[in-house]
Amino acid sequence: MTAPAVIDTRAVGRTYEAVSGPVHALDQVSFGVRAGELVAVVGPSGSGKSTLLNILGLLDRPSAGTYLLDGVDTADLREKERTRLRAQRIGFVFQAFHLVAHKPAGVNVALPLVYNRAPRHARRRVAEQALARVGMGHRVDALPHTLSGGEKQRVAIARATVHRPSLLLCDEPTGNLDTESTGMVMGHLAQLAADGLAVVVVTHDPTVADRADRVLRVRDGRLDAAGEA
Ligand code: ADP
Repeated sequence: MTAPAVIDTRAVGRTYEAVSGPVHALDQVSFGVRAGELVAVVGPSGSGKSTLLNILGLLDRPSAGTYLLDGVDTADLREKERTRLRAQRIGFVFQAFHLVAHKPAGVNVALPLVYNRAPRHARRRVAEQALARVGMGHRVDALPHTLSGGEKQRVAIARATVHRPSLLLCDEPTGNLDTESTGMVMGHLAQLAADGLAVVVVTHDPTVADRADRVLRVRDGRLDAAGEA
């Protein structure tokens, strides 16, 4: 049985109105990502990767085309519904981790459960389970400054997946990591994908792209013929 499409973009375009005139940051971008897939997005600076991530993360709207998330046409949604869909279905991982410095790992990881109004008594247990999935179950009480870069990113991945989203969007997740930590983080992302998550990773690192099931190449706002890795 084919896994369901989590991302389905059809001829998506995004034009910014700059002082110097319109900037066509994305043009006719059509692709899908299914549950269970790990997809890398690569391309030179200015090619449109951030614009694409913002649209996929429901932080921005296309100026043309259609974006369906889990089969829902996102153009039909009001801002409040988009916010709810984002909180429920999407997790974000950033290059700089963005952990709350004075909160232990477990509390950081539980934050999306607060936004999703999970019962208070269940939060710590669910956060511990998410940490355990990335091999960090024993560090639930650790403050971020006591963790290595790779460990911080594993906590950030636990936080981004604690509410069991369908889509994980990662923006240069290994940009601050050494080779060993990069390998470990990519191993966890691959495992999460194997367990049914759709994972999209924007990266400059060819070794990261090598770990993906597919590589999407963006150039001047367009996708090169979607290459199979
Ligand atoms: P990348 O993430 O691949 O570096 P971006 O998505 O940031 O690319 O940018 C794509 C293009 O859109 C670039 O030409 C950039 O200058 C332009 N751009 C991005 N954001 C804006 C904006 N808010 N206003 C005008 N132009 C923008």
